Amino acid sequence: MDERDKLATSQAALQWAASYLGEHGIRDARMDAELLLAHCLVQPRLQFYLEPQRPLAADERERFAELISRRGRREPLQYITGRQEFMSLEFLVSPAVLIPRADTEMLVETALSWARNQARSLRILDLCTGSGAVAVSLAHYLEGSDIWAGDISAAAIEVARANAERLGTHVCFAQGDLTGPFRGAVFDLITANPPYIPRDDICGLEPEVGVAEPKLALDGGQDGLDFYRRLAVEATPLLGPGGKVMLEIGWDEGPQVQAILTEAGFTTIKLIKDYAGRDRVVTASRPPTQDRPPSDSKASQPRTVPK
Ligand code: GLN
Repeated sequence: MDERDKLATSQAALQWAASYLGEHGIRDARMDAELLLAHCLVQPRLQFYLEPQRPLAADERERFAELISRRGRREPLQYITGRQEFMSLEFLVSPAVLIPRADTEMLVETALSWARNQARSLRILDLCTGSGAVAVSLAHYLEGSDIWAGDISAAAIEVARANAERLGTHVCFAQGDLTGPFRGAVFDLITANPPYIPRDDICGLEPEVGVAEPKLALDGGQDGLDFYRRLAVEATPLLGPGGKVMLEIGWDEGPQVQAILTEAGFTTIKLIKDYAGRDRVVTASRPPTQDRPPSDSKASQPRTVPK
C-alpha cells in the first residue's frame, strides 16, 4: 500500500494512527487518534462515524501525521491540542502548567460546598494556581466572591490570566513564591494543589507526566511534603476568623499532612476522598489562638492554674 493511502480517508487515518500509537505504548490509542483527528480537522469526533470515507486533503494528512508523531513521542494529548476540560469548563494549557486533573475537581467541589454555606461573600486565595483551573472554576461557580491567585511561574500566571479572561471571570493574579505576594492580606479560604510528588519518584512516572509536565509543579521535595510544611506556617497569618485551608494531597499523604497541620495548631482537620476512594483533599480551620490578641494570650494563661 502506498504510504499516502494509509491516510486517504478519516477511517483509514484513524486505523493507522491507533495502531501507531498503540505500538508506542499509548494506552487509549484509538481515543487519542480520534481526538487528534478531530482537533486537526476542527470537527466533532461523531463526524468520523457519520462520514467514515471523508477524504483527507494533502495538507490535512501532513498535519495529522505530525500530531500523531508528537503523541507517539509521549507528548501529552492536552499539550498538543492546548486544551483540557475541568469542572465542565474548557481550559487552555501549555507545557508551562500542569494539566488539570479530574482528581482536583474534588478540591473545587469541597471548596464550593463550604463556600455556598457561608452567609457572606468570601475572599478566596488559590496558591500554586498553575493554569488557574481551581481559581477560575471558583470564580465561575461562586458569584459575588473575590478570588485571588498566585504562582511562582510568570509563564503559568500568563496561562491562568488567559483562562480567566476567556471564561469571563475576574481573578486577581500575582506572581511570587507561595504566600509571598499576599503578605498582609486576609482571606476566608486558602486553596492549593501544591507540588506533592516525592522528588525521586518523578522519574518513575509516565513520560507524559515525569518528562513533559513542569517539574516545578510536581516536585514536593524529598518526601513530597515541603509545601504542606510551608503552608501550615505561612497560611495562618493570612486567614481571618473562621478561615479555612483546603489542600489537595497525594493519596498516601493524608496522615502526614494531618500531622503537619495539627502541629501548626489547625483544628477540625478532615480528609476527603476522591471518587476512587483515595484520600485527596485535606481541610482545616485556622488555629484558634489567632482569634486572641497576642498580649491577651499570655495574660490569660497563668503558669499555675487554680482549680
Ligand atoms: N496528581 C498529580 C500526579 O499524580 C500531581 C499533582 C501535584 O503534584 N500537585 O501526577
